[in-house]
Amino acid sequence: PLEPLAAGEDGAFVRWPVLLDGEPFDAVFCPLVNEAGGAHLGTLVLLVSARPLLDTRADARRWNLFSTSVGMLVSTLLALLLATGLARPIQHVADAATAMRKGDLSRRTGIRRQDAIGDMAAAFDGMAESLQRHVEEIHRLAVTDDLTGLSNHRRFKEELEREIMRAERSGSPLCLIFLDLDHFKRVNDTHGHDQGDEVLRVVARLMRDHVRTVDLPCRYGGEEFVVILPETPLDAAVVVAERLRREVEDRPMGKGIDLRVTVSAGVSVYPVDGTTSDDLLKTADNRLYLAKERGRNCVVTDDGDDA
Ligand code: GH3
Ligand code: MG
Ligand code: MG
Repeated sequence: PLEPLAAGEDGAFVRWPVLLDGEPFDAVFCPLVNEAGGAHLGTLVLLVSARPLLDTRADARRWNLFSTSVGMLVSTLLALLLATGLARPIQHVADAATAMRKGDLSRRTGIRRQDAIGDMAAAFDGMAESLQRHVEEIHRLAVTDDLTGLSNHRRFKEELEREIMRAERSGSPLCLIFLDLDHFKRVNDTHGHDQGDEVLRVVARLMRDHVRTVDLPCRYGGEEFVVILPETPLDAAVVVAERLRREVEDRPMGKGIDLRVTVSAGVSVYPVDGTTSDDLLKTADNRLYLAKERGRNCVVTDDGDDA
């Protein structure tokens, strides 16, 4: 006999582990008592094989071990999934921020999710959108003339350089029209600065309306305007300059008064009159001066007798 496993109340029965031929049994000793008199009639010994119980316990231990391992594996996998699920969108946001810092303001995260990460990405994209719009507006203002809404001197210089390079590569001609309002000082002196400003606005509108979309009309400064005409030969540019001159001449311009002005123009062409922006401008400006000399309200494409 080994150790007793359990004893009934008042020793009513005893459960005792025993080994018989190496096999484990639980021996249960039950006293047989006469119910009426309480006389002890004998002892019933039950031998119950302990093998299934032991097997069940081993199975339970194995199952516990297995389920614990599976549980740990599942939680590790979940943690890994959660970590990669967070890391990837955060990396996308960081990439978008880097691209924007390098100047690509159109970059977005591209993340669409209905959770906190999605909210963060949407907030980032919203901020990027607003930043891009503001920067574009600042850039637009930096290259636009306040009074007329035409491109300003800065944009004119940039675009002329760009168009000259393009003309160099393509071998096509490029023209420049330089225009100046005639006796504009008199307009201001006679009708006031406000009427003068209105004239400048109307002339600018006429220029916008009477050139091709590829042409670039600009306010050069004061009452002087220039038009860049890409891929245009001299004769075609003269047609445009003449049309502008006539439109200005025919148009009443004052606010509430019949104010008339005229314009003079000089035209130069790449590469005949020059291959740099300075040379093209200088030639057009000289021809504009000639137009003034010749009585104003005309277009000049030659350099006069002494050229
Ligand atoms: P010309 O035919 O020789 O070109 O004579 P002009 O009077 O047009 O030339 P001038 O250079 O003597 O005068 C230019 C005038 O343009 C003087 C200036 O007050 C006026 N002007 C320049 N910028 C503006 C502007 O923004 N608004 C107004 N109202 N006038 C301007
Ligand atoms: Mg002038
Ligand atoms: Mg003038």
